[in-house]
Amino acid sequence: MKNIIYGLIILLSSFTTNSQAQSIEQNAHKKVKHIYLTFDDGPLNGSRRINDAVLAEKLPIFVMLVGEHALARPKDVKLYKENEFIGVGNHSYSHANNRYKLYYSTPKGVLNDFIRNKDTLALDNKIGRLPGRNMWRIKGRSKNDVSSGIAAADLLAKNGFSLFGWDLEWAHDPHTGKPIGTAEDIFKEIEKKLNNDKTFTKSHIVLLSHDEMFRYQYEESELKKLIDLLKSKDGYKISQLKDYP
Ligand SMILES: [Zn+2]
Repeated sequence: MKNIIYGLIILLSSFTTNSQAQSIEQNAHKKVKHIYLTFDDGPLNGSRRINDAVLAEKLPIFVMLVGEHALARPKDVKLYKENEFIGVGNHSYSHANNRYKLYYSTPKGVLNDFIRNKDTLALDNKIGRLPGRNMWRIKGRSKNDVSSGIAAADLLAKNGFSLFGWDLEWAHDPHTGKPIGTAEDIFKEIEKKLNNDKTFTKSHIVLLSHDEMFRYQYEESELKKLIDLLKSKDGYKISQLKDYP
């Protein structure tokens, strides 16, 4: 009898330990904050550095490419597509020729421009970002910044495209390519947005940057500093945009 009771106690205590471990694991999982690094307007001067840095760091990133730029740099597109850490998405063929209001006044034209880009780049997905607009169309959820572009975004979504806007932009000086704001500044903003639930999806933050920020050596860049910061903190994970919920 004593042995049976003893056995039971052991059995019960092992259950408790297991379930405790499980709930700790679940909590840790819940607390993970996902950061998605996205780079727009490539391929441009800087794409090769992105490719090298990503391979060295095994860093998942997503690039939104413009067909017109890709035509001039087919080798860069190939590098991106062959890199297992890089996802490649659609940022339109023409980038609206930087005349956004006119571009978005013809939703059908926008759709055709995206299809043209998908074909040009031979993309295997329908993930994209509108040029000059921070609009979201993800699994039936949506968000807009201005009114011009809404009809085009809706039409793209109706045709199977997922559109990502951004929760935070890391801007750069267009002349020098230098980032505006240090890695520490951006990290603080990331923390603030996540803690105040100011992202499109809770605990997930999409960061927008540009290929141009890679005009300088990655090793000395503010981007590397940000990556190192994120890696050094508990509870942050740099995730691939394709896995966005
Ligand atoms: Zn753009």
